[in-house]
Amino acid sequence: MSSEPIADVLAIAAHRDDVEQTCGGTLLRMRSIGVRTAILDLTRGEAGTRGSVGEREAEANAAAEILGVAWRGALDIPDGRVENTYENRLKIVEVLRRVRPRVVILPYWTGRHPDHYNTATLGYEACFLSGLARLDTVAVRIQTGAEHNPPHAEYSPPHRPFKIVYASLYADVRPSFVVDITGFIEDRHRALMAYRSQYGNQQQGSGLFVPEEEIRERTFSVARHYGLLAGVRYAEPFVQKEVGLVDDLTLIPVQSM
Ligand SMILES: [Zn+2]
Repeated sequence: MSSEPIADVLAIAAHRDDVEQTCGGTLLRMRSIGVRTAILDLTRGEAGTRGSVGEREAEANAAAEILGVAWRGALDIPDGRVENTYENRLKIVEVLRRVRPRVVILPYWTGRHPDHYNTATLGYEACFLSGLARLDTVAVRIQTGAEHNPPHAEYSPPHRPFKIVYASLYADVRPSFVVDITGFIEDRHRALMAYRSQYGNQQQGSGLFVPEEEIRERTFSVARHYGLLAGVRYAEPFVQKEVGLVDDLTLIPVQSM
């Protein structure tokens, strides 16, 4: 039984490529200062217009390599049907107990896509459950006969993340803080472009998907917007539910005037 953490920061998202869009620069920045990062995608993208599940998996792995994450996994929750059920919570608990992150990044809790906002609640409740000493996910799985993919045979001890932050890039809300990704935006873009089936210029679904050049302009503009809020070039926005805590007033960043 091993309880050695795999990563310090775990980003949980509904779809492959969500993390690349909302907090990929932050993961790159964390990695650059020696913080281990990981990604859990809840679905495998089988409902997408473009690309097979196998293609999308290869793309997700290529993106993970660019982002330098220590671990990336995907659950088997149906694409377009991310629901806050006990079974889904347990699947995430098993990952939380194996990865043992101090910080979990979730999508913001309101938005256009139900999978995104459902992931926020599902992920939050899984983080809570994961800390319950009496919850033995292996025992539950054996009782219910449920088979999870990927299967985790061994028991991992309870683990509750210390901090949850919400990646709010898709949401029209004022962030609690932003992370300066100025030095990492090109690599973030490369990670997103690893999803060739989604973002390469092509015929299939071309009315639905924007051309590659426009993706660059859009994502850089959004990052520039959030950067301007904090006086840096490019940034990614986050919301935390807790208040901020300060030791030294003279060290609070972001100039007032
Ligand atoms: Zn998504």
